[in-house]
Formats: sequence, structure tokens, C-alpha cells
Amino acid sequence: LSMRRVAVLGATGSIGASALDVIARHPDRLRACVLAAGSNVAALLELCRRHVPEHAVIADAAGFVALRDGLRESGLATQAHCGEEALDALVSGDACDTVVAAIVGAAGLSSTLAAAHAGKRILLANKESLVLAGELLMQAAHAGGATIVPVDSEHNAIFQCLPDAHAHAGLKRILLTASGGPFRGRRREELGAVTPEQAVAHPKWSMGPKISVDSATLMNKGLEVIEAHHLFGVDGDRIQVLVHPQSLVHSLVEFIDGSTLAQLGLPDMRTALAVGFGWPERMASGVAGLDMLTHGRLDFEPPDLEAFPCLRLAFEALAAGGTAPAVLNAANEVAVSAFLQRRIGFLAIPALVEDTLAALPSTPATSLAALRDADTRARRHADQSVAARA
Ligand code: NDP
Ligand code: MG
Repeated sequence: LSMRRVAVLGATGSIGASALDVIARHPDRLRACVLAAGSNVAALLELCRRHVPEHAVIADAAGFVALRDGLRESGLATQAHCGEEALDALVSGDACDTVVAAIVGAAGLSSTLAAAHAGKRILLANKESLVLAGELLMQAAHAGGATIVPVDSEHNAIFQCLPDAHAHAGLKRILLTASGGPFRGRRREELGAVTPEQAVAHPKWSMGPKISVDSATLMNKGLEVIEAHHLFGVDGDRIQVLVHPQSLVHSLVEFIDGSTLAQLGLPDMRTALAVGFGWPERMASGVAGLDMLTHGRLDFEPPDLEAFPCLRLAFEALAAGGTAPAVLNAANEVAVSAFLQRRIGFLAIPALVEDTLAALPSTPATSLAALRDADTRARRHADQSVAARA
């Protein structure tokens, strides 16, 4: 078996840590060759000392000198780089054959697209890039000969149930499971005063702050509906969201003959990442199998769209098409960041997204430039709404 040369983008994050854990378990099959982060030079240097990659990239140019000098002082031959263009070039070139796309937010689009054009195996965690430019990303992957293995746990589950994404004749619908987040069961009136600390305290998964807030608003599930549409070619009316508080059934697919297939496992992203690295083979991930007798029961309930309108907004943006998903995503990124900085309340997140979607009606979007323009305009509009509310 050949060695996979892996670029871990978002190495200092939660998915980055899980990916590096799986890589370190397979020194004969996986090697971390490129590590990339946003601005946290100290954390990136620590990872370089442990994994000794050939290249380290910091997005923020202000961190370049500290990264370069830190690598030198540690006696490492790792080359330092900074900026998005340098990252895209490394991702496209011979430095890697496999890319873990785990940058948070629309900032991950450029490198994910570069990996797609260059025909890499992409372990896709960065769902925002699919929401923003799903058609272009899927086209680029197809044209470039890239293999996208979704590592978002739900889509990884569906991928495992439908490994040949182009031959799923007979698929009736997709059932996406959601934990319900930390505020499951609360009514809308009870959500006005929740804090960022409460919102990021997810009951089942340990994740970065942005996706944790998205899980609390159910926007995460909304983004995942759009993600599933692009990955598996299924429209919104064939995607059902089920709240499943135990987070053991990661999603299900239903066929026209009455069969439903599901993938189950403990809530630990290393399973999905190991599927991504090994597929079609299986690799150890460090995650134990499920003991069904200790877990005992699996519950399912419908989502509460009144308390959590973000899920409805995402279905509406998917149905509207064009620039609407890009606007939804951009407004949400601005709103979540403002909420984490305590500039707006929790219920202002859906309000701000809804208001931005209304202010910037969907237009057809066939080019990356048009989508980026919609993203920029939505951020500007949402920033102004934050300032007006704060
Ligand atoms: P974290 O916040 O834990 O990590 C984000 C990573 O992105 C960090 O390494 C950060 O670097 C890096 N980053 C931020 N901005 C830039 C930039 N402009 N250029 C390069 N790197 C950047 O997030 P998660 O790991 O939780 O999530 C990452 C992605 O994976 C998200 O899209 C999320 O939706 C998705 N995902 C995550 C899951 C999870 O379990 N965590 C599950 C399913 C999907 P720095 O440390 O320097 O800021
Ligand atoms: Mg998920």
C-alpha cells in the first residue's frame, strides 16, 4: 500500500486534532506533509514539532516571521509559508495527495476548490464551502478527478450507506439525524437570554465554537441539508431531519423497496476521518465499537422549527437556489461571530439571517465571482445589522 501524503488544513482546530490523531496511528500508511492554520502560530509550531511536516502555512501574514523563526529554533526543516495563495499552491502541487479540508467557514473555499481542481482525495469537513459554492465545487471535483469523502458525520454515514454516489437509483430519501444541541426541548421564549458558554456546551460532540453555536441554533443541520443536496444530488423535499438525542445513528437512507440503511457509532469524528483516509478499505481509528446493550435505546423526534427557525431558513435558501445559500451562510457567520463576542443575543442570529436573506433576494449564480460578491454583500449587510442592534 502506498503512503498517503496528507495536508491538514485547519490543523489547530478540533477536526485537525482528530485527523492528526488518526494519522499518528498509521505511520506506515499516513504522513502529515502540510499543516495549515489561521493565526495561532504557537499551536501550529507545537504541531510541527510533533508531526514534522514538510510545510507549515499560516493564513495571517502577521504570523509568518514568528512561524519561520520558531521552526528554525526548533531545528526543523519544515518550510514556513503564509497566505491563501501559498496554501492553494501547496494543496494543488506535489506536496500532498490527500487534503483534510477543515478550515472553518467560507475561508476554506479557496483551498478546497484548489484541491478539487487538482484531483486530490478530499476529506471534506468544511461544509460552508459546499453551501457557498456547492455546484462549482462538485463540478471542479468531477473535472479534476478528485474524490470527495465527506467527513461531516451525517454525510459520512450516508456515504457509507451509498458508497457509489453516482449510482443510487432507487434511493427514496435521506434522513439526516441531529442531536438537537444543548437547547433541545426549550421553547423560543426560553432562548433569549442564553449565553455563548451555554451555547457551545454541546451535549454529545466536542467541536470548535462556530459549529457548536450552529448546532445550538440548528443552523448546522440547515447547512448539512444543503451539503447533502450537493453531495448526493437529492432535493430538499427528499431530505428529512430527525432529532436523535443519543447521537449514535449518524444518518439513514431509505430506498423505494422499503429498505432503510443506517450507520451507527460513538460520536467521535475519528471514525469518519478513518473512513476518508482508508476508503474503500477500513482502518483503525482509535474509536471503540458500539455496545448496544449499554446504550439500550434510540429515540427520534421532529425538529422544533418555531424555536429553531434557522433550519427552516436553510430549507428556504436551498429551494430559492442561486445566491441564497451563500447569503444564508455569510449572514450566519457574521451573526455567530457577533453572538460569541456578546454583541447580539441568541435569537438575533436567526433574525439577522432572515433579514439579510430578505434584503438580498436570490439571483442566479453560475460563477465563483457572483457567489463571492453575494457573500461580500451579505457580510456587509449583516455587519450593519449587528451594529444597529449592538
Ligand atoms: P475549529 O474552530 O476548532 O478550528 C478551525 C480551524 O480553522 C483552526 O485550525 C483555525 O486556525 C483554522 N482557520 C480559521 N480561519 C482560517 C483561515 N482563514 N485560513 C486557514 N485556516 C483557518 O473548527 P472545527 O474543527 O470544529 O471545524 C472545522 C470545520 O469542520 C468547520 O467547517 C465545521 O463546520 C466542520 N465540522 C466540524 C466538526 C467537528 O466535530 N468539530 C464536525 C463536522 C464538521 P487557528 O487555530 O489558527 O485559528
Ligand atoms: Mg454534522
